[in-house]
Amino acid sequence: MKLQNKVAIVTGAASGVGKAIAELFAKEGAKVVIADLNGDAISAAVNEINQAGGTAEGIVANVTKEDEVQAMVDKAVDAFGTVDILVNNAGIMDGFRLIETIQDDLWERVLAVNLTGPMRAIRKTIPLMLAKGQGVIVNIASAAGISGGKGGVAYTSAKHGLVGLTKNVGYMYAKSGIRCNAIAPGGVKTNIALNNIDMDGMQVFQEGAGTQRSEPVDPLQIATVALFLASDDSRFVNGAVIAADGGWTAY
Ligand code: NAD
Repeated sequence: MKLQNKVAIVTGAASGVGKAIAELFAKEGAKVVIADLNGDAISAAVNEINQAGGTAEGIVANVTKEDEVQAMVDKAVDAFGTVDILVNNAGIMDGFRLIETIQDDLWERVLAVNLTGPMRAIRKTIPLMLAKGQGVIVNIASAAGISGGKGGVAYTSAKHGLVGLTKNVGYMYAKSGIRCNAIAPGGVKTNIALNNIDMDGMQVFQEGAGTQRSEPVDPLQIATVALFLASDDSRFVNGAVIAADGGWTAY
């Protein structure tokens, strides 16, 4: 078991990539806090893990609300005593909007969930990790965090910001035993497009993308990379962005 007795928080863990990460981490021995907006889906995910012999607790936490992010970290400490691993996974899309059509409220929502949320979750978790002299942060970015033609303008900007956040934290805390890395997935079979605002920019996106894109993959393909980054197998990997996209961004 690669994460025996580690305590992990995974945001947006009631669905898709986050759920797959929570399940895999639990199989590898971690005690997992499943944080999400969706209470029913949290209960289902927690029950599945506990029934399979793992250990999970759930909390309804909107990563855009500072007090709820604090409650999420408190939940891990109350239930399991600490936080060893933070996975900032919760994210939303932006309807592939171009700069011409992006509205301030959508821009702010996408930045709040995809960038400010991770910043606050890291800010609240870092003191616990500093006190222990160890900790691992994994941010779920996107191919749109590496190149400019893989998403709308708000999503692309937020994910590029998340890559910057990853590198800054990774670099600044390297000597404190804390690692911070990001995964940049390509297409994954999840619910994210269902929650997408509306897809008016999709036509432009497809024309602009112009590169080979693999068929969307099972979320487990991202979870296995997250496991590598969360475990000691990657102890010399820090401040890195690992593309998990079948070569999409290699073009
Ligand atoms: P998903 O919609 O299946 O799951 C996202 C989860 O996050 C949902 O359970 C949702 O309730 C939760 N969530 C949304 N806003 C939240 C908030 N404010 N606070 C707490 N939870 C919130 O999507 P997914 O595809 O699994 O996405 C997970 C991450 O992977 C996202 O950061 C996304 O940008 C990234 N990603 C996904 C793909 C893809 O093709 N699916 C590709 C690249 C990157």
